[in-house]
Amino acid sequence: MSTPTIEKTEDSASETLPTIPHVVGGERLAPEGRRGAVYNPATGRQTAEVAFASADFVHQAAETAKAAQPAWRATGLAKRSAVLFRLREIISARTEELARVITAEHGKTVADAMGEVARGLENVEFCTGLMHHLKGEYSEQVATGVDVHQVRQPLGVVACITPFNFPAMVPLWMVTTAIAAGNAVILKPSERDPSAAVWLADAFREAGLPDGILNIVHGDKEAVDAILDEPIVRAVSFVGSTPIAKYIYARAAANGKRVQALGGAKNHMIVMPDADLDAAADAAISAAYGSAGERCMAVSVVVAVGGVADALVEKVSQRIGGLVIGDGTDPASEMGPLITREARDRVAGFVSGAPDEGAKVVVDGREHRFEGDGFFIGASLVDDVTPGMRVYDEEIFGPVLSVVRVGSYDDAVDLINSNRYANGTAVFTRDGKTARQFEFDIEVGMVGINVPIPVPVGAFSFGGWKDSLFGDTHMYGSEAFNFYTRRKVVTTRWPDPSESQISLGFPTH
Ligand code: NAD
Repeated sequence: MSTPTIEKTEDSASETLPTIPHVVGGERLAPEGRRGAVYNPATGRQTAEVAFASADFVHQAAETAKAAQPAWRATGLAKRSAVLFRLREIISARTEELARVITAEHGKTVADAMGEVARGLENVEFCTGLMHHLKGEYSEQVATGVDVHQVRQPLGVVACITPFNFPAMVPLWMVTTAIAAGNAVILKPSERDPSAAVWLADAFREAGLPDGILNIVHGDKEAVDAILDEPIVRAVSFVGSTPIAKYIYARAAANGKRVQALGGAKNHMIVMPDADLDAAADAAISAAYGSAGERCMAVSVVVAVGGVADALVEKVSQRIGGLVIGDGTDPASEMGPLITREARDRVAGFVSGAPDEGAKVVVDGREHRFEGDGFFIGASLVDDVTPGMRVYDEEIFGPVLSVVRVGSYDDAVDLINSNRYANGTAVFTRDGKTARQFEFDIEVGMVGINVPIPVPVGAFSFGGWKDSLFGDTHMYGSEAFNFYTRRKVVTTRWPDPSESQISLGFPTH
């Protein structure tokens, strides 16, 4: 497998910039047409352009996938599993290489990107057990001489549409399970950091996946709409912001497709009066500012219960002063830039608007000075935040941590349960009874007890509630095998010919 994932194609519209191609049927393609700009967020400079698929191109990719899928479906499960074992070895051995591809377009630190790859690999490892995950069921003698069994069969061609913030992990969650289950896939990665998907397509190919089973199609709304309207595509997995998730869910479902659409988040971390405040402050810093807050499981609101707020705010603001912010390729950096200039300016707008709404900016990340044109902003801490303020109501998706002060545990739970988002949440306490009650009371999909970013391990599954997920199936784990298969139930009888008779009645036992 060649190292570069970006190839300069002959029909590139630019003399100097490489074009990131689609991958369809094993071929790298970049036909003439619309292009998107890809930047290195740490320098602010454009590094490539990415080919955007037209509706026709998406259709051709779907036809390619459809033609390839029957042979993959007929491939023995042990052989499918062997492909995934090889994939695991390739990605494990070259984790840092993939991490650097991610950092170059996303901006997160290389160490963080390696963590992302590791969490994606967890699902590859889970899927190597596909022989087990695809097991059917059997009931003997449901009636005299009658047996029933159920098998899981793939859907055919499925599509995966992924966000910028995890350009390797989220594709590995979706694509690996869909392929393990015998489907062919069209992956439409984020147009902002598309090279990781091309890298993964190369890795799958090197692992022995036949051409046409994993196809990468780049683009924006035009490509997505073509996927949603394409009859060949039987199911759509989506991760991204809530308005787009809602749109994807409605349009794909209206076209008769199975859909899981994960949306945005506003994750609260409750700090109870009995919590260890240093541990809580460390956790809040890590979960709020890691990956510059561009994680769907980032903590964006600390809910300080009782009298802990002053001490907690003090401890968090002290720690912010020690954060090293810089180019993600610098091993010293703990936090990188934001994905785009617009994202950086949007985040700055939340901080600048907070005082007008009555909040108090304790640490103003806009004051942090950076050299160069990278999309950097410092970490911000905003106190005295309440519902109704923009900084509380909207998903910021940047390094801004809000503090909401409440009087009691019940107030904290009411606050969280009233929020439209319900992806992740955490409680910090040393009291087991409070923790257990929190788990019982809270209306959120993923819960941490003294764990600020409770992303479940690969054997469980990932998904929020309310406006954080449209559909009923979570990502990865056994739920994903349900999503990417349909069940067929077979009823069998081997009667003696002498027992044969005509009966127009409805069959009974
Ligand atoms: P986004 O919604 O802007 O884009 C996601 C995907 O949708 C991309 O592939 C993009 O090309 C496509 N898209 C964008 N606009 C579209 C439109 N108008 N019509 C059709 N398709 C469109 O999200 P993003 O900015 O790439 O990612 C950040 C968001 O994703 C945040 O809201 C974050 O919370 C969310 N996210 C959620 C989870 C989760 O598990 N719930 C995980 C990661 C990210």
